[in-house]
Amino acid sequence: MIMRYKTKGFVLKKEDYLDDSRIFSVFTKDFGKVDLLGRAIRKINSKLRGGIGLFSLSDIEFIQGRLKKTLTDAVFLENFKNISRRSHSSIVACKISEVADSFIKGQEQDEKILDLLLDVFLKLDKSFEESKSNLIYQYFFWNFVSILGYNPELINCINCQKKLNPYELYFSSSEGGVICKNCYALKREGIKIKSDSLKVLRLILRRDWDILSKIKISETLKNSLVNLTENYYLYLCSVLKSNFKNV
Ligand SMILES: [Zn+2]
Repeated sequence: MIMRYKTKGFVLKKEDYLDDSRIFSVFTKDFGKVDLLGRAIRKINSKLRGGIGLFSLSDIEFIQGRLKKTLTDAVFLENFKNISRRSHSSIVACKISEVADSFIKGQEQDEKILDLLLDVFLKLDKSFEESKSNLIYQYFFWNFVSILGYNPELINCINCQKKLNPYELYFSSSEGGVICKNCYALKREGIKIKSDSLKVLRLILRRDWDILSKIKISETLKNSLVNLTENYYLYLCSVLKSNFKNV
């Protein structure tokens, strides 16, 4: 007997497969991340093509074959069509789906991840300014890694637990948070950060978009945030790679 599965999912990636098919990497509500084969979906008369696409949320139905899961039905719930109209939001959408696709290992289901993806894609869909789109990426990244268990300590020094001096702040990716001047001097590991970056990061982790969207982010602050995010991203890439090896 063929088992049919119904769920809703967000499409992180699509790749052409054979002559007329496509494989979608979908983060689903009930089965975590799954690869679904859209058989003959690139044919003009395909029933499926009107219900699923890159960066869309769809109601989906699939069957489990011996090797692959095959899509049998798809209906759009949200397709965020404004994103592809603006290059800055398209670039951020690609970055978000790349990070999500590479950091989510497999079939762990987590509604918080799906909610976050919808939250950031709705924001991107309405984002007219490049600076806002970039901030949406930071908002996604830090909240996403927090859901995965890598939430940074931002209140006290993560090493000695002392109160932080706002003029001498460092972020240590390997320690997983902000460290004080003394701990930095001992370890020589971390990057100097501005107190404004720390404030923005705290607002991001509180998901206070009302305030975040009103902040005027200077070029210096933007560069500092980008540097900090990139630093933690590269560190987590190396951690997750070594976790994969140990499985
Ligand atoms: Zn310390």
